Order: sequence, then structure tokens, then C-alpha cells
Amino acid sequence: MTSLLRFPPNELEELLVSLEAPRYRADQVLRALYQGGCDSIDALIQLPRDLRERMKTAGLTVQLPVILREVVSDDGDTTKALLSLPSGPTVETVLMQYPRSGRGPRSTVCVSTQAGCAMGCVFCATGQMGFERNIPAEDVVAQVLHFQRLLALRGEHVTNVVFMGMGEPLANYEETLRAVRQLTDPRAFDLAQRAITVSTVGIPRAIDRLATENLQVGLAISLHAPDDALRRRLVPTARPNSIAELLDSGRRYFRTSGRRVSIEYALVGGVNDAPRHAQELGKLLRGSGMHVNLIPLNPTAGPFVAPSRRGVREFRRILTEAGVNATVRIEKGSEIAAACGQLRTDVDAASGRGSAAFPSPS
Ligand code: SF4
Repeated sequence: MTSLLRFPPNELEELLVSLEAPRYRADQVLRALYQGGCDSIDALIQLPRDLRERMKTAGLTVQLPVILREVVSDDGDTTKALLSLPSGPTVETVLMQYPRSGRGPRSTVCVSTQAGCAMGCVFCATGQMGFERNIPAEDVVAQVLHFQRLLALRGEHVTNVVFMGMGEPLANYEETLRAVRQLTDPRAFDLAQRAITVSTVGIPRAIDRLATENLQVGLAISLHAPDDALRRRLVPTARPNSIAELLDSGRRYFRTSGRRVSIEYALVGGVNDAPRHAQELGKLLRGSGMHVNLIPLNPTAGPFVAPSRRGVREFRRILTEAGVNATVRIEKGSEIAAACGQLRTDVDAASGRGSAAFPSPS
């Protein structure tokens, strides 16, 4: 079975033509999928019944995730869903809403591109699960559609998508790119390219490749340390790539795409949050134009702890004094285990399917 969400408009047209349907049927299907609430081939009532039958015979389907668990933060701004995806795995997807004056909220969906993750960041719940499998593009798109349909019920819509959930998006390059194209195609989900951010822990070759795709998506590089030795302790798989190589690929991305690159830095109490780390980071990034997002680690069980509030403020102050723009990302919904991998870890532990209980940054 293949979900219709896999096909960009041009491929969908070809597919329908191969089923002896006129091309304009593609637009009807796309409208039903992305603007209507279509959840099955049978629900495509705009199409003649015999075409729907041919589509089913060809193995086409409309598959959406099943919600296993959904939790909403106390302030109602963050909704985290544990979704069973049509392709099999269980992943986390998060909706974060930020009020904006004079218009509807900014509604950002954080999608997962892999079940588990091979990058093994030591402070991350997903990293401790190990790698399970890649998520196909249609299931990345389906995660966004899940929240889009929820928001549509109250007259709102998804305004941004960040590829910052479970997994390393650039290690699932083809499917990530296919999902980005689907989400930004004016005939499909129609989100602005600039409303999308791909976050990577750093695969320089893949960053260079992304720069050649003629896209305007934002890039976030998760650094987490100002020197290679500490970084290799926190991100063991980063061993082959030095920080210098990573930042070089970020600079090349900026030159080619024109999009500024941001740096993600998870502040882990007593590990990488000392003033000297801030000073080193400041030296490293001064003049680069890169913006730093400081992410205080979510406090959960495990060997790592959150940084102190004072320490976070001081870290930011030192960066700012060094001429590096930095903001502290407010950890939305920490009471609902908003960091990636935590909800699934909690559910797995409760069901006896493993007990990794490390906090995670993103
Ligand atoms: S922080 Fe991101 S890259 Fe690192 S293990 Fe977790 S999901 Fe993977």
C-alpha cells in the first residue's frame, strides 16, 4: 500500500493519468488531502467511483497516524502526541503555539524523521533508544497534517515546521527532502520555505548537499560544546567531524542559500554550562552572524541535570558581550515531557519495553 501523501503534485498527476484519469483530478485529490479532511480513498467523493476503485486496486491509500497518547501543557500552548505511524513506528510530534499580536498564534509543528536515532547524544532520551528506522516522507507529512486538522477545527493553521523531533533529518536525507518539498509545494501543503527549519547535529557532506537544493529553508546546527573533546563526549558519533568543519559547512550554507544558520546549544548542568564554555563559544562564533539558541536541559531522571537559572542568564550575557546574539529557548511544556524522546520513553518504560530515562534537549 502507498499513501497518496507520498506523491508531489507532478507525480500524482502522472499516477492518475496512468489510471486513465484526466490530469485535473490531481488538484481535486490535493485539495481534499491538504485542505479537506480526507482520510481514505472512499472519502474522495469528488472522484468517480470507478476511479476510486482503480486507485484502491493499484494499492493507493490515505493513511494517517493513530494517536496513542496526547498530552497538553498546563498553559495549553504545547501539545505533544505519541503517534503510531502508518509505516509502523511510534514517534513523537509536538505542536508549540506562541501568541502574536494582531493575528493568530504562531503554530509550530516539530516533526520526527526517524524512530530512535543513531547519533547517540548522551543527554537525549531518543539517543539512548538507538536507531530503529527511517520515517518515509509521507509519514513526516502526515505528522504535520495531524496537527493541521486539529488546528483547522478552531480556525487556525500550521505556520512553521521544524525538523527537530526524534532522529537526525540529514541521516534520512532523501525522505526529509521529499517531505520538505511536499510541505512547501503551493499545490500541496503550501507552507513558505522560510517557515521550515531543518536541525542537524552535523553531517557536513549532507549540509553541503542541502545547500545545492535551491531551497530557502533555515538550518540549525546542534553544537552543544565549544571544543571538540567535550563535543565528542556529548555527541559520540560526531567524532569524524570537527567543530571547525561543521561551522565551515554552516558558512557555506549561508553563502549558497542566503539563509542565516542558527546554533543550538543544550545547556547541561555542570557539563557544558560554565562561564569558560560561554567565553570559548563566544570566541568561536564572533563575527559569524550565527544566532545561538540556548536550550536548558529538561529536568528528568538520569545522570544529567538542568543548568541553574542564574547560570543560563550568565551564559547568555557572556555570549552577548562577545558580540554573539543568543536567546534562551523557553522550554515549552516541560511538565509534559516536551523534550524529544521523553514521552515515548515514559510510555515504553510503563509498558516494560525498555527504561532509558535520560533527558533530551530538542
Ligand atoms: S539530540 Fe537529536 S541527534 Fe542527538 S540523539 Fe537526540 S534526536 Fe538524535
